[in-house]
Amino acid sequence: MADSGKRHRVVVVGAGFAGFNAARELARRAAATTEIVVINSTDYFLYLPLMPQVSGGQVESSHIRVSLARRLRKTRFVLGTVHHVDPEQQVVHWTGPEGSAGQVGYDRVILTVGSVNKLLPIPGLADHAHGFRSIAEAMYLHDHILRQLELASVAADPEERRARCTFVVVGAGYTGTDVAAQGQLLTTRLARTLPGLAGQPIRWLLLDTAHRLLPELDPRLSRTADRVLRRRGVEVRTGQSVAEAGDGYVQLTTGEKVPTQALIWCVGVRPDPFVDGLNMATNRGRLVVDEFMAVPGAPDIYACGDCAAVPDLTRPGQICGMTAQHAQRQGKLVARNVAASLGMGTAQPYRHHDLGFLVDLGGLAAAANPLHVPLSGPPANAVTRGYHLSAMSGNRLRVLTDWTLNLVTAPEPTSLGVISAQSVPLDVNKPPA
Ligand SMILES: Cc1cc2nc3c(=O)[nH]c(=O)nc-3n(C[C@H](O)[C@H](O)[C@H](O)COP(=O)(O)OP(=O)(O)OC[C@H]3O[C@@H](n4cnc5c(N)ncnc54)[C@H](O)[C@@H]3O)c2cc1C
Repeated sequence: MADSGKRHRVVVVGAGFAGFNAARELARRAAATTEIVVINSTDYFLYLPLMPQVSGGQVESSHIRVSLARRLRKTRFVLGTVHHVDPEQQVVHWTGPEGSAGQVGYDRVILTVGSVNKLLPIPGLADHAHGFRSIAEAMYLHDHILRQLELASVAADPEERRARCTFVVVGAGYTGTDVAAQGQLLTTRLARTLPGLAGQPIRWLLLDTAHRLLPELDPRLSRTADRVLRRRGVEVRTGQSVAEAGDGYVQLTTGEKVPTQALIWCVGVRPDPFVDGLNMATNRGRLVVDEFMAVPGAPDIYACGDCAAVPDLTRPGQICGMTAQHAQRQGKLVARNVAASLGMGTAQPYRHHDLGFLVDLGGLAAAANPLHVPLSGPPANAVTRGYHLSAMSGNRLRVLTDWTLNLVTAPEPTSLGVISAQSVPLDVNKPPA
């Protein structure tokens, strides 16, 4: 890559919550003397917390993505996937989406590659389930839900109708709970427009091996989510999971066989496999860093967000959770610390007290505990949506418009039909067909 004539170069690998905020903060602090290069596999920053609203047809998929080239001023954006970091030569190597390749030297590199779907060794899972970590998966799920009901409405075989009208979500964390909540509302709306489905039960099952929904969050949020979902008819199955998946069915750990064409895997995430290739120390698969987010023994390398095991100084001995709340704040602080390492300002350790959590449950429902004050119903929904709008990096008006329009007129339930099941495999190590 050509020399810009500036004194230092910082390369940011990944532009999600951590990398996007790191690049922005670095540009604010050090753009005059430092060249900032951002390399990301996609040309957008994705606001993941609103993905269930994309699969539920509430928000346009393009409205939760913002252009990196447009929003990251004073940085050089490279569309590519980094496959190798050479700490000896201080060089990062990437490949572009159409096979091009490149490399760039660095004075400091910040690794923020995030996480991917976590797979478990369950027979048939990799072939029959779909994850929920990328925009393509959210768009696929939206279309898949519509297609199942549309096909069921004209199917003569009652078994086929039953399978197409049954949706199984595994993992009742914030992702699975929100996906089931939004999905169930979508199918209820759609079924009203398909006379062939009159009288046909539409089932949503939400499974988790834990004994409550949202097991990682405040029990008061679990109770709210449980109440809302059960009231809508979602079958909340705690203490259960999937033992096997096959063509047209899943077998639960209770032995029950459930006919279905939709198995949605929200069991969690693991750090991006890129971390394994670094040959550096890891903790639960995440790159070990100190409280300044520097890799011990490699002073030019920093990491944060889901891919890094940042010590949680508010809970000694533990590492920070994989949340946007942490990733965004770590991104800003890592920029400060990298600038300090280049002689601009002072470094600061990462310390952040949990500010509570917000889970949208579709319609006017939500479960939230901002600053640990438990809320439910419309007040929780207003706080949740207000928070998302304030936390987004752009497109706020577009998302607000989607929500407002949906209050007065139902969204059009149509599918795009361009994302095939094969193009969103659950197993990230398996190349898409
Ligand atoms: C559906 C869903 C809902 C969520 N809801 C919430 C919520 O409500 N609240 C909350 O706090 N958290 C939520 N989370 C978790 C939160 O989104 C993550 O913790 C957060 O995105 C982590 O930020 P990150 O920057 O580490 O990774 P990401 O935001 O995933 O960004 C990683 C970036 O790196 C890029 N990348 C990956 N590998 C490479 C490579 N080799 N080369 C170049 N680029 C690469 C990716 O394209 C991506 O842009 C949710 C997650 C999901 C999936």
